[in-house]
Parts: sequence; C-alpha cells; structure tokens
Amino acid sequence: MVNLFIVANWKSNKTIEDTNNFLNEFKDLYIARDDVQVVICPPYLSVSTLSNFIATNNLKIDSGVQDISPFDDGAFTGEVSASQIKELVKFTIIGHSERRKYFGETDELLSKKCEKAQSAGIEIIFCVQNEDTPIPQGVKIVAYEPVEAIGTGHPDTPENADRVAAVIRAKHEGGIVLYGGSVTAENVNQFTSCVNIGGVLVGGASLNPSGFSSIIKNA
Ligand code: PEP
Repeated sequence: MVNLFIVANWKSNKTIEDTNNFLNEFKDLYIARDDVQVVICPPYLSVSTLSNFIATNNLKIDSGVQDISPFDDGAFTGEVSASQIKELVKFTIIGHSERRKYFGETDELLSKKCEKAQSAGIEIIFCVQNEDTPIPQGVKIVAYEPVEAIGTGHPDTPENADRVAAVIRAKHEGGIVLYGGSVTAENVNQFTSCVNIGGVLVGGASLNPSGFSSIIKNA
C-alpha cells in the first residue's frame, strides 16, 4: 500500500542526453518500496525518453509533467494539451510558485488547467504556498511549498509544515498533502514522519541520481 509520494520536479534542467545518463545511473541505485510512489516530472522535452525508459526497464516509477495547457487540442501554438500528454504521463504538477511568479498564472487559469487534467484522467499535484491558497475542486494531492523554502537551502520546520498540512487536510477531507522546499536526503525523514504529511516534492535534490535514490531510501 502506498503511504508516501516522492515527486521529483526537474524544472528547466537536463537535456535528453542528461536524462538518459540520469536514468542509467539511477536504475542501479533505486530500491523500489511498496509503500512509496515515485513520480519524476522532467521537462516536456524528456517525457517520452523517461516514459520509454520506465517501460523498457519495468521500473516502479510514474512519469509526470510540470504544467499543463488550460486549452483543448487545436490552434494554441506552443501548448501541449492534457489529452495529448495523457498517453505518456499519469501526473501533472499545477500551480507551482515559479509559474505563478514568472508566467503570471492566476487562480482562475489554474482552475482551468485542473479541469483539463481531470477530464483527461491525469492526476494533479497542486502546489499551494500557504494554507490560504485556493485549491480547485476535485484536487486530491496538494503540495505545500512555502516560497522562501524553495531552492534556498532553508526548509520550513517540520512542525510548521505539519501544522499547515493539517489545516489543508481539514479543508480537503481525504486529500494528501506533500511538503516541498529544500528537501534533501538528510532532512526528508523529518517531514515524511509527520502525521499530516504524505510525501515530498523535491526540486534541486532530485537532479542527482544518488541524492534522489537516498531521498527515497531515507523517507
Ligand atoms: C520545487 O521547486 O518544487 C522545490 C521544492 O525545489 P527545491 O527542492 O529545490 O527547494
């Protein structure tokens, strides 16, 4: 039974060659656990490389994307729709603070993205920055990611992360809350041992095969 989600967000990092190198190294280090669902979200560029590698090597890993179009298929230059990417992924991150900050994504737009993901049957990992961030209807997995903890080496305290996760869970009965922000192999267990936290979303520390496999082992 899955108790924990460990989600890698590679952001705008790694070429296809880098992705192949990561996967070849990672597959020898990764020890799959029955209680952990591992999801890797590479850039769109590498999604098919990742999905094919997982299938060929029969790895217990799911693939995801870091964002999804708010539109259906059609005349939307530059976009990849949920129904197009569905073939390759099970998950999508939506509402990451970097999308909100650098691309001006609003709560309204994020709701549309959630609708498209849901109608394509893609599971959503919805990022919130605090307990007051609106969460669209039907979202089951929420990632609490305080902006000041992302990429800074200064994670939230496990006590505060657990408190925020409890508030979110109280509002979204049955929901799963992940913590994200400067998670490493050294601190992951402090978060995953909190009663209200159902896993972690990992940015920088997921880029390295040995660091990411240690996060999974130590969680
Ligand atoms: C993130 O961007 O979702 C994230 C958690 O980044 P980092 O782990 O690098 O803080």
